[in-house]
Amino acid sequence: MFQFDNSYARLPDRFFASVYPEPVEGPELLRFNQKLAAELGVEADLSDPDRLAAVLSGNVVPQGASPLAMAYAGHQFGNFVPQLGDGRAILIGEVMDRAGQRRDIQWKGAGPTPFSRRGDGRAALGPVIREYVVSEAMHALGIPATRALAAVSTGELVQREQEQQGAVFVRVAASHVRVGTFQFFAARGDTEGVRTLANYVIERHYPDLMGAQNPYLALLQAVADRQAELIARWLGVGFIHGVMNTDNMTISGETIDFGPCAFLDEYNPMKVFSSIDRQGRYAYRNQPGIGQWNIARLAEALVPLIDADEEKAVGAANSVLKAFGDTFQAHWIEVFRAKLGLVTARDGDGDLVQGLLSAMEENEADFTRTFQALCNAAEGHDDDLLACFADPSKLREWLPKWNERLAEEGRSPADVATEMRGVNPWLIARNHRIEEAIAAANYGDFSFFEKLVEALEKPFEERPEFADYAIAPTAEQKVARTFCGT
Ligand code: AMP
Ligand code: MG
Repeated sequence: MFQFDNSYARLPDRFFASVYPEPVEGPELLRFNQKLAAELGVEADLSDPDRLAAVLSGNVVPQGASPLAMAYAGHQFGNFVPQLGDGRAILIGEVMDRAGQRRDIQWKGAGPTPFSRRGDGRAALGPVIREYVVSEAMHALGIPATRALAAVSTGELVQREQEQQGAVFVRVAASHVRVGTFQFFAARGDTEGVRTLANYVIERHYPDLMGAQNPYLALLQAVADRQAELIARWLGVGFIHGVMNTDNMTISGETIDFGPCAFLDEYNPMKVFSSIDRQGRYAYRNQPGIGQWNIARLAEALVPLIDADEEKAVGAANSVLKAFGDTFQAHWIEVFRAKLGLVTARDGDGDLVQGLLSAMEENEADFTRTFQALCNAAEGHDDDLLACFADPSKLREWLPKWNERLAEEGRSPADVATEMRGVNPWLIARNHRIEEAIAAANYGDFSFFEKLVEALEKPFEERPEFADYAIAPTAEQKVARTFCGT
């Protein structure tokens, strides 16, 4: 089924634990991502769903697999844990996709591993559905993210706060190497381990850096740049990751671990959804600062490789960290300029964007709907936009400034609106719709899940059959909290 070429398994033994999945009672295929399978060159016999479910649940280990759990450490909510590791995920192996990119295939929830600590190694159906929906939604928005190859129910129950149905999620990633993977070796004083890992990720993710004068400093810089851009793009669609621990930040620059994540409904930069984030550490607007903090942890791990002279190494790493804010800001303004339909850069654009955002904040305007309505306003129809604001007075002051700025660029309103519709999604993965899909799935009805996935495949297209998914939740529908479900 898979043409494996497993490079991680060839790394030294201390990088992982070889482990086989624990078979489940009654695997049933919930959803299989055929498009992604084709992209990966995975040959799946859809006429035999039982066999497919057996492989995708881990009951049957496919030929050529070298199943393993990766070792990693990480800062969780600021506290360092020297050993985390894949406690409920097993890397099946790697394939080269049709574009020649190496991709990891992983079972999530396939049973205990040596890294499980007190956990059961399992995943509950709800979180699997959330991860499937949101990771595919992110991809459709054009934002780098791990992908969903399949979801399988296990026919078993898992004990959480309440008993829940079990499921296995099959995840695809450019790789599962995290900031925390570097921290794992660094915390043990295993500089050779850090070096082996750094060489591995340079070859896999940043091959252009192989000839760099200082490849390890260049690696730090490259990871920082990708994360700065990624976070700017999250903010552009109102995404809150929810658990930006260093073990949940990839080296590849893909969004990973869709636990208590959520998209904003009304715009509130202080917004936190995650039930475990009591201090608001990972609030919407804190994400760039946390990104920089996480990159600082990567820098600490890389210092011994950057220069034999520690002082020099720290100085060089610090200059990368210092630049993070400006790099992020540059990406952020690029994202928001495009959302406003602007193609050139002018001083004062930052203030223009902030002017709109603060009017939105004061009015608790729906983030996605406001930017959609702004596309119409670019063509001179501002009724929808005004309707997004309880008190549109601030907006009325702002609109002429924006119109003047657009006029300076001299493009036709129709062209501006069309381009804006290409960057401002018509729909996002709204929390209340995800909750609805999960609630129905728990009663054995997967139709809401199916329809939601279908709706989110083309987020920039206005499709009347999915109109319900585009509108903001009513006060009763609004979801206040999201849960990890681990
Ligand atoms: P996460 O919150 O999913 O990023 O996971 C943080 C850490 O807890 C990782 O080391 C996971 O492997 C581990 N973990 C989470 N859930 C479970 C579980 N049900 N069983 C074992 N380990 C788990
Ligand atoms: Mg994680």
